[in-house]
Amino acid sequence: MPILRLSFRIIFHLLSALHGEGVPVLLSGFTKCPGLFYATPAQDGILSRIRIPGGILNSQQCRAIADIADQYGGGYVDVTNRANLQIREIHQGINALVLKHVQDLGLGCSNTTVDQIRNIMTSPTAGIDPQELIDTRPLVTAWDNYITANSQLSGLSAKFSVCFDGGGIVSVSDRINDIVFAAVLVDGKVYFRLGLSVGAKGKPAQDTGILLSPEQCLPILIALADVYLGYLDPSSKHKLRLREVINSLGYENYLQQVQQRLAFPLSCGKTETWIEKTATNYHHIGIHPQSQPNLFYFGVVLPLGRLETMQILGLAELAEKYGSGTLRLTPWQNLLLTDIPQQAIANVQSEISALGLDCAISNINSALVACSGNKGCAASATDTKKDALTLAEYLKTHVALDSPVNIHFSGCTKSCAQHHQSDITLLGVTIEEENRTVEGYRVYVGIDNNEQKFGREYQFVTVAKLPALIEQMLLVYKTQRLNLDETFKEFVHRYGISQWSIVNGQ
Ligand code: SF4
Repeated sequence: MPILRLSFRIIFHLLSALHGEGVPVLLSGFTKCPGLFYATPAQDGILSRIRIPGGILNSQQCRAIADIADQYGGGYVDVTNRANLQIREIHQGINALVLKHVQDLGLGCSNTTVDQIRNIMTSPTAGIDPQELIDTRPLVTAWDNYITANSQLSGLSAKFSVCFDGGGIVSVSDRINDIVFAAVLVDGKVYFRLGLSVGAKGKPAQDTGILLSPEQCLPILIALADVYLGYLDPSSKHKLRLREVINSLGYENYLQQVQQRLAFPLSCGKTETWIEKTATNYHHIGIHPQSQPNLFYFGVVLPLGRLETMQILGLAELAEKYGSGTLRLTPWQNLLLTDIPQQAIANVQSEISALGLDCAISNINSALVACSGNKGCAASATDTKKDALTLAEYLKTHVALDSPVNIHFSGCTKSCAQHHQSDITLLGVTIEEENRTVEGYRVYVGIDNNEQKFGREYQFVTVAKLPALIEQMLLVYKTQRLNLDETFKEFVHRYGISQWSIVNGQ
């Protein structure tokens, strides 16, 4: 609603003027894990991350974020792989009163001591997914409220991560999290299977087989966090990850200590095994019916998760005009516009396109991921974002995809932007050639179902030759796959990567 927007803008500018531009602000310290109140220095300025529990935000919040990005940052926001929002290129501290106002709108954490803890993840289609077993939004709210109300949880590692999967079409149970609750049906009743991060670094949470009723999820989370906190050395600056604590305490011992804090017995039930729905990762892109009659949601593709402020404002406007006024961010760095009546579909489609965005699964950007690259991170060997966008531009006119192929650019082996294996990983490196430094990528293809971090190494390619190589790989996949349902990974597994060398004549 224009009136609301006007009033927020007036408040925003009044507050800024009142406090003075550039007056020191509530940036209470620099940490490696940013929050709204814990900024992190990056190559391109200060980085501020706003927790959006479950990735759900309303149009008023969108406008507040857009104003901050315009006023203090680079005029854009990035959706992260935990469905947070990041504002980058901040060169002056954000006015404390502005931050307070944003906090009053329900953004960030009202308890700043726990603001840096990782965002709570859930399926972006919670409550609207026609196949889900349970709406997980109340669990997200319950855990968020608990964190906010209990300052002792500021002792948690900022990377302490929790995810609730309601068992629907758009699954998040395979995302990297310390603790996963995945809904299953047992004798007609909904339970959650508990997954915990144990063993080697970078692995998805392992299914413990423990079955929990929805009411038992919050008590066990409290107990899991409590045992973890009890093990930490409060004087140490290094916060161990939950995986390290479990490995150190021993899995059985850890669970025994958790059990001692609970009023109900932990039990394993006979159910189907943990189902990872990795193949459905991009099924939210496009226009889909909701569980509510006559309502649809739009899965909008955001190139590399980025939204210009005019696009955020435009989407907020659309959400109010046609939907319920909410947007949902996804861990795949896209977003959903929900609750659109069938009769408004055509209008919404054309208005999304007027914003320079689309909902096409064939858009190469739908599954293109890149870390911040050397513009934002000193560890990066290459300008991953620029190279990814160049590749996307090239492929747009050279290969028509009919299903998403996940291509991940990473500036170093840390792979911040995507923790699980992608279809094609491009790892930035530099080489010395004829007395000059050449930027390029090691190309990996996903084949081993996470046995190797990036999959099988295929070859090195310079930045200049990258688009043509990826075009070749995609064309071979398109023409040689068994049928439209054969995924890129399945194809690679069957076809073998050496075949591409023959096609390329190398
Ligand atoms: S993956 Fe490496 S280069 Fe990219 S943002 Fe993370 S640390 Fe930086």
